[in-house]
Amino acid sequence: MYQLLHWRGAIRAVRGLASLLEIIRTGKVFDVCIIGSGAAGGAAAKVLTEGGLNVVMLEAGPMVHPDTDYKEHVWPYELAHRGAGIGGAGLTDFSQTEFLAPNGFWNIEGEPYTEAPGSKFMWFRSRIVGGRTNHWGRIALRFAAADFRARSRDGRGDDWPLTYRDIEPYYDKVDRYIGVYGSRENIPSAPDGIFQPPPKPRCTDLLVKRACDKLEILCVPAREAILTQTLNGRPPCHYCAQCGRGCKTASNFSSSQVLIPPAMATGRLTLLTNAMAREILMNDEGKAVAVSYIDKATRRDQQVRAKAVVVAGSSCESARLLLNSRSRRFPQGLANSSGVVGRYLMDSVGSDGAGYFPALEKMPPHNHEGTGGMHLYIPWWKYGRKNEFLRGYHIEFGGGRNMPRAGEFHGICHQYEGYGVSLKQRCKEKYGAFIGMSGRGEMIPNENTYCDIDPNVVDEWGIPVLRFHFQWGDNEIKMARDMQETFRAIVEAAGGTYMTRTRRTQMETQTASSGDIVKSSGEFPYGLSIGGEIIHETGTVRMGNDPKTSALNQFCQAHDVKNLFVTDGACFVTNPDKNPTLSILAFSWRASEYLLDEARKGNI
Ligand SMILES: Cc1cc2nc3c(=O)[nH]c(=O)nc-3n(C[C@H](O)[C@H](O)[C@H](O)COP(=O)(O)OP(=O)(O)OC[C@H]3O[C@@H](n4cnc5c(N)ncnc54)[C@H](O)[C@@H]3O)c2cc1C
Ligand code: SF4
Repeated sequence: MYQLLHWRGAIRAVRGLASLLEIIRTGKVFDVCIIGSGAAGGAAAKVLTEGGLNVVMLEAGPMVHPDTDYKEHVWPYELAHRGAGIGGAGLTDFSQTEFLAPNGFWNIEGEPYTEAPGSKFMWFRSRIVGGRTNHWGRIALRFAAADFRARSRDGRGDDWPLTYRDIEPYYDKVDRYIGVYGSRENIPSAPDGIFQPPPKPRCTDLLVKRACDKLEILCVPAREAILTQTLNGRPPCHYCAQCGRGCKTASNFSSSQVLIPPAMATGRLTLLTNAMAREILMNDEGKAVAVSYIDKATRRDQQVRAKAVVVAGSSCESARLLLNSRSRRFPQGLANSSGVVGRYLMDSVGSDGAGYFPALEKMPPHNHEGTGGMHLYIPWWKYGRKNEFLRGYHIEFGGGRNMPRAGEFHGICHQYEGYGVSLKQRCKEKYGAFIGMSGRGEMIPNENTYCDIDPNVVDEWGIPVLRFHFQWGDNEIKMARDMQETFRAIVEAAGGTYMTRTRRTQMETQTASSGDIVKSSGEFPYGLSIGGEIIHETGTVRMGNDPKTSALNQFCQAHDVKNLFVTDGACFVTNPDKNPTLSILAFSWRASEYLLDEARKGNI
């Protein structure tokens, strides 16, 4: 069925070209223009087209073709550079490997960004239909009730203009539609969803769980947007353990395979690929009326007209587009009378570690790796206690023996002398004897962390680029220290050797399965990640009740421009420890239903 949908998708892409010619010829006015086709854009497209609206979607990248683009079953020897990328670039930058789902990069040629003096920031962007949902780890966690009341609880940051109860029905809709596995646990910091059954724990999971039980740390089945049962014609996971490469059977969630096809099937979605939105255009009454974009194929400026605009290009791209849409009425950027656009930028607090477990060395070869996501995880277990820092974090962990990647055994080759059979024997022994851990925590926004437009740099399309300013605060440093202490405690309680050294100038950590040493750069203590490195940027066009301190209302609608919505992670007020994508889907779904309702009432 998914083959068929994609085939239909290709036909519709051709129709999209016909539509483009029609737009140019007739000056057609769509009901809604959506910018971006990732989690936020895909959810909006599904809800709005199924609700009867005519939608045009601008996507800066090309169409994705899962049958040829996804490499989940490809062996290294089938690839030009054994998967290591040109010149071995993929050995140090995973976005350069030949395995990853296409067009997701830390650096995009011709589309740079800059860092303010003294700031470091990493920005992973995808330019393809479905955006980063082609690449993501599928960890799908709901925010908790307390996450919406951060300021009331500890006086820092701000409260959201809505509660968990307001968004809960949309989490339910998303869970039911995309499919998420997990288990009902009734944990206050990690609400349950509508779950499919979780896969069985791997033996590495059981080792960690045993240690966690000793230490009284919660360790429960993970929540991942991967099917373990058939859903809407999508078959369950066949356990190839390679989700990051994409999934030809659409058994995990991507917008390109799960949200765009049903929107296409309505016949009301015109998808314009390789269309990079440059600016949102306004009329004299202060309404958005059109979006100007670059057609990358012809390098020509085009315009598309619509009665409403949904901005969903990912948090920082969305802020960039608003900041670049200046007019007499909005001299500091569209919908930015408050001056908050670009401010309150957040990423997750990240710190990683790894342990070596001799007990795992003697495992007989087996083929039980399961899904490409986690099977167990550690939710925030110290909720409600007095801790040295505010808010919380969760721990993701992984290990096992799935398909080795290029350079997998470099670490072992560095540690042991020898070559030939004896070295191969070492690699075999050590393979799968490591478990990696990643803490992912809540960052509190601060005034030194934001993005603005670099006045001196434009991309290859002539569009001014973003400049990032980023600093962690004390709370994040204390949190990273706690992560490192916890990783060590778990590894030692599980009978392993903790291997991570976190220095102020350099962090060395071991990858989960092989002991390969990866240098994760950073001048940060306790292995604290570089801003943006965790790929959870949010908050740059935040919502709130007060138009003086926020850009959007609780339905992601701009306070200043009633027919303009920003439905991606830019709307977030806080960035709880939960990975953001499930919430982006829920917020975009809610905002789109509201927009649909307003359109039906004639208010847009
Ligand atoms: C390797 C990796 C692992 C991750 N793991 C997880 C995880 O386990 N759990 C989780 O919750 N999150 C995870 N994330 C983050 C997750 O992918 C993002 O939160 C999510 O995709 C954001 O959705 P979005 O719609 O806001 O943006 P995106 O998915 O980035 O989509 C934005 C789309 O808009 C297009 N676009 C941008 N600007 C323009 C423009 N001006 N004109 C036209 N089109 C434009 C882009 O080309 C892109 O296709 C991960 C990300 C990566 C890369
Ligand atoms: S592990 Fe499952 S969901 Fe992931 S790519 Fe393989 S079959 Fe698809």
